[in-house]
Amino acid sequence: MAQQRRMGGQPMFIMSEDSQRTQGRDAQSSNIMAGKAVAEAVRTTLGPRGMDKMLVDSSGEVVITNDGATILNEMDIEHPAAQMIVEVAETQEEEVGDGTTTAGVIAGNLLGEAEDLIEQDVHATTIVEGYHEAASIAQEAIDEQVGDAAVDDEILKQVGESSMTGKGTGGLTAESLAETVVEAVRHVETDDGVARDNVTVHTQVGASSNATELVPGIVIDEEPAHEGMPSSVEDASIAVLDVELGVRTGDVDAEYAIDSIDQLNAAIDAEESEVQGYAETVAESGADVVVTTDDVDDRVSTFLANEGILVFENVGSSDTKDIISATGATRVGALDDLEEADFGHADRISAENYGDDDLAFIEGGAAAETVTVFVRGGTEHVVDELERAIGDALDVVATALESGEVVPGAGATEIAIADKIRQEAAGIEGRKQLAVTAFADALDVVPRTLAANTGQDPIDALVDLRAAHESEGRAGLITDGEDVTIGDPLESGVVDPADVKREAVESATEAATMIVRIDDVIAAE
Ligand code: ADP
Ligand code: MG
Repeated sequence: MAQQRRMGGQPMFIMSEDSQRTQGRDAQSSNIMAGKAVAEAVRTTLGPRGMDKMLVDSSGEVVITNDGATILNEMDIEHPAAQMIVEVAETQEEEVGDGTTTAGVIAGNLLGEAEDLIEQDVHATTIVEGYHEAASIAQEAIDEQVGDAAVDDEILKQVGESSMTGKGTGGLTAESLAETVVEAVRHVETDDGVARDNVTVHTQVGASSNATELVPGIVIDEEPAHEGMPSSVEDASIAVLDVELGVRTGDVDAEYAIDSIDQLNAAIDAEESEVQGYAETVAESGADVVVTTDDVDDRVSTFLANEGILVFENVGSSDTKDIISATGATRVGALDDLEEADFGHADRISAENYGDDDLAFIEGGAAAETVTVFVRGGTEHVVDELERAIGDALDVVATALESGEVVPGAGATEIAIADKIRQEAAGIEGRKQLAVTAFADALDVVPRTLAANTGQDPIDALVDLRAAHESEGRAGLITDGEDVTIGDPLESGVVDPADVKREAVESATEAATMIVRIDDVIAAE
């Protein structure tokens, strides 16, 4: 409804007549409802027994996933408040790479609790203050949960495995994948931390997921320019060119006035010798492998094939960059400038065919410690979900290795946080105490959902978990194959990086408090 003011009898519109305005409680409850609905949408995917979702976009493209951030991204959400929950998952994904579902469901539950408080006439500002206070108690509780044990390969493997359990890992166990992930992260570890960007994931449909392996280098989608070329070169010197190896395509349209067969032959000869010249220059440069961003004339590639040189033509700009950073090659813009100092080096460069796809492997590059997790799987959907699961696992293992801090998973940390908040809430005055306690109740959503998703009664599980936490100091709902038991997650190897929990609490709190504070929604048409 358009806002109207009267000035001197004339109606004055300060907003477009078509804009929509919702105010007060209506605005609050519609925003809260939208936010809750989004969180609800990912709830069933949480944990090792979480279910997958199949998302079909308007062009019929199908994505099957268990990943919170992916689901929310694909859902094409329009409501602005709901969009804020999507952003929680996105932030979580960007900052720590995992825990997106957790962050989303916590945010949704914080909103649900806020709704109840508003019903009880607790003011939004009081809720916001209480939530912030509770969030800082939560951060302290997370610090207290950090395990004493040094984060070694065994713990890193557990972190990776915990993040992948229940994901579509094909026929592969999360355990064996976690080993590959830890190996990859260890490979790119430096004195300054983990060069996470140096680990890439390359998917290739075809084989069973068991064939997934770690390639000590990069994998790119390129094929040799000629089938007679060697399929593999050891101890390779590689030249990277921005040069067309042939008669420049630009010249083809040029007109030649040819009046005799002699002139034609001369023109052909000139072209032949030009092409021959390119081929010889390249061959004589001493490079065993040549990569060019441009075309290579068939005659040149035949010649180079005979010389035993492996050539990749029309290589895309991002692949070229990767090759340069792996091998240390310098890009050369003119053939005359090509010299040995520009070559990059690699232990092995090979070309392999996978059905419809041709791949080039550049292993043991001299310039960078890049590694690639070469993911195999039976179908496109399997490798895509594996890629996401491995991406998350790489992130959490890198995070855990860098910070050296892990906390018990399986809901144990959330139980401990809620417990600490409830204890401290007693000392908080006024209605704010209600908000602080509500925050603790909201965190219970994680253990409750883990229970519900394993077919357990969430209330019973929560009661049992609290009792076990009270007596043992640490208690999670551990899923191991078919068994679901209450126990110490650290002993069962269910661990999450502390930073994943810290970020989840922070981003969920931020989004929930921001939504709660809104009491006026003005939307242009
Ligand atoms: P998110 O998107 O939040 O990472 P996940 O579906 O990956 O959601 O589930 C993560 C939760 O599952 C964490 O709380 C983690 O501790 C828990 N978890 C992982 N493995 C197990 C297990 N074997 N038993 C119980 N809980 C587990
Ligand atoms: Mg996860």
